Amino acid sequence: MKTVVVVGGGITGLCTMHYVKRQMQEKGIEAKLILIERNEYLGGKIHSAYEGGFIMETGADSIVARHPGVLELVKELDFESELVYNETGISYIHTNNELHAIPAGSTFGIPMSIDSLQASTLISEEGKKRALKDLEMPNTGFTKESSIGEFLEYFLGEEIVRKQIAPVLAGVYSGDLYQLSLTSTLPYLVDYKNEYGSIIKGFEANREQFEKAANKKFISFRNGLSALIDQLEANLPEVNFMKNTEIHSVMKEDGRYKIDIGNETVLADVVVLAVPNATVQKVLADEQLEANLKRFTTASAITLYLGFDVPDSVLPADGTGFIVSHNSDLVCDASTWASRKWKHTSHDGNLLVRLFYKNVNPRYEELAAMTDQELLEVARNDVKVSLGIDDEPTVVNVAKWIDQMPRYDLAHNEALSVLVKDLEENYPNLLLAGCSYFGVGIGACIQNGKKTAERVLAALQ
Ligand SMILES: Cc1cc2nc3c(=O)[nH]c(=O)nc-3n(C[C@H](O)[C@H](O)[C@H](O)COP(=O)(O)OP(=O)(O)OC[C@H]3O[C@@H](n4cnc5c(N)ncnc54)[C@H](O)[C@@H]3O)c2cc1C
Repeated sequence: MKTVVVVGGGITGLCTMHYVKRQMQEKGIEAKLILIERNEYLGGKIHSAYEGGFIMETGADSIVARHPGVLELVKELDFESELVYNETGISYIHTNNELHAIPAGSTFGIPMSIDSLQASTLISEEGKKRALKDLEMPNTGFTKESSIGEFLEYFLGEEIVRKQIAPVLAGVYSGDLYQLSLTSTLPYLVDYKNEYGSIIKGFEANREQFEKAANKKFISFRNGLSALIDQLEANLPEVNFMKNTEIHSVMKEDGRYKIDIGNETVLADVVVLAVPNATVQKVLADEQLEANLKRFTTASAITLYLGFDVPDSVLPADGTGFIVSHNSDLVCDASTWASRKWKHTSHDGNLLVRLFYKNVNPRYEELAAMTDQELLEVARNDVKVSLGIDDEPTVVNVAKWIDQMPRYDLAHNEALSVLVKDLEENYPNLLLAGCSYFGVGIGACIQNGKKTAERVLAALQ
């Protein structure tokens, strides 16, 4: 019997196994299934912590519901009764030491109508006039491979990009807008420009789709995102889960692969590496692939949860959190009012706040060198400045995601096509999967797991 080994028990590795198993059953194929995971728990960047009546998502906090395959997976796992949706509310930008609502009728801070642009309290009258030039300026040279920062600045002007769009978009895509392509962020903006002559008009024409998505657009589960991971594992009794097991190398031998796990080796006919790019570089240790693998870059973030014995109702009405722009006394880059946005995260309705410190932060080097206690002092001060709360938190959780967040910069797509071709030629039946290459969002990882499973089945057949 052939052996399939998936390395990495994050959402991608688990979904790969989930769909491999289903397709094997459908097609009547048998194979030995092994999943190897370095941590003692599965989930990777999905990991819920439970303390003092709070649920704290130390990595990802939710899933975009409308992404293809997401609700389908939940249904396949018979887990719909556990679903929870986000509370909708106002997101703010903290600028000049004040909270300004991100205008209604905008997507990622980009106005979807002239009214939304005019209603903004974040940009000057001059800035608004400049943004309106979008209605007149034709697209002469931008393609989906162009930088999204340059594209938006060219048509909408520097001010709205800097004050209203970049704080939102750079947060979502963990990077500098000028280094990110339209393809890896919002490729449809070029289509809007070409088809409607204007980005704003394009949004206006497609507004319904965005408004529908704006309500209840994120999902989680009553017991946190880790519940989905547990459910995937529980549905895979035929898989040998080797947790607490780190792989050190993968080597070709007689048409199979030898995986070194320290004091043992595991032999596989098909290998899926659903691990971060840094691990792929290390375990393949292939000089020919190395230069190309180095083109995939990463970002970092430190996040802190602070839970208080204070009712969540102290928060500004309808607010769900803020992003920090410029001229602010805050150190953090963003904050989510978790207990407001996700009711299930606070059992007693007490305040739970999450603060984000990213590598784009001017004080990042200093923050990265801090102890958890020092970080807590910074976070407490940020809560005091932003919400006026000076109480001692009852619960604290610090998570450091150093060089763990893939950044899809301008070289990504080209590097990926070279990599896929190199692997096909030199490593038959060894497949790469996961957030380093095929999309960062959990929805994209689920879809990638499904596609990878199809390739595993093709290799088995
Ligand atoms: C702070 C943060 C917030 C995020 N927020 C969101 C969000 O709200 N919504 C969203 O959709 N996405 C979010 N993301 C992104 C999303 O969480 C990830 O892209 C996704 O979970 C990645 O899944 P994966 O399986 O591809 O990789 P991973 O989760 O990284 O899994 C890889 C696994 O491989 C294991 N591994 C590594 N090396 C080895 C080795 N040598 N041997 C064995 N095992 C190994 C790791 O331990 C890990 O379990 C966030 C990410 C972070 C860090």
